[in-house]
Amino acid sequence: ADTVDTAALVAWIHEFARLVGEHKQMLTELDSAIGDADHGVNMDRGMTAVVTVLRAESPGRPSEVFKRTGMTLVSTVGGASGPLYGTAFLRMSSTAGDAEELDGADVAKLLRAALDGVVARGKAAPGDKTMIDALSPAVEALEAAIEAGQPLAAALDAAVRAAEEGREATIPMVARKGRASYLGERSAGHQDPGATSVTFLLAAAATVLA
Ligand code: ADP
Ligand code: MG
Ligand code: MG
Repeated sequence: ADTVDTAALVAWIHEFARLVGEHKQMLTELDSAIGDADHGVNMDRGMTAVVTVLRAESPGRPSEVFKRTGMTLVSTVGGASGPLYGTAFLRMSSTAGDAEELDGADVAKLLRAALDGVVARGKAAPGDKTMIDALSPAVEALEAAIEAGQPLAAALDAAVRAAEEGREATIPMVARKGRASYLGERSAGHQDPGATSVTFLLAAAATVLA
């Protein structure tokens, strides 16, 4: 469909939670190479809590889906990724406003707001080897596809491909933010865990919202 309602957004979050759960060990292994081996565990704990909250409270509009998701992540995921993902979803909530349904341009605005929130909170730039290296090209590809008049499904597919390329591009990067930056040059040669998990967020959108 080319518009997305509250139920579809809940399904997106559930699919993200499923992907994080399925890849929990891989995410944690990536973090063990350049961090403290908890990214998969952190994200899975948070997204499991989010699924429980969304089942119990059944949100009435898009902004509520994102608000509950963001608040639950902030309170259950510590570390760097909790506040960063939390901020991303809370920005999506405020950007959704009172809308009951979102079109492709709205979805692009949400993800742009999520990216801006992560940048404001974490102060990372492209090339610093963080989730921004996957999220930023994904948002740009999504916006370009929507502006070119492509349907949401095709635009989200383009966003996933851009996220995947961005994720792969983190491998040779030297980390300049977060725990991986403590390793300096030794952080090169490893894929960034957060760039990997945020690619699952885009992949979940492409699967469910299309
Ligand atoms: P922690 O490093 O506190 O254990 P996680 O392991 O859950 O937290 O998350 C690590 C991920 O967080 C990194 O792979 C990176 O993508 C992301 N990250 C860390 N610092 C920043 C930042 N300042 N801006 C954006 N993303 C960041
Ligand atoms: Mg970690
Ligand atoms: Mg940690």
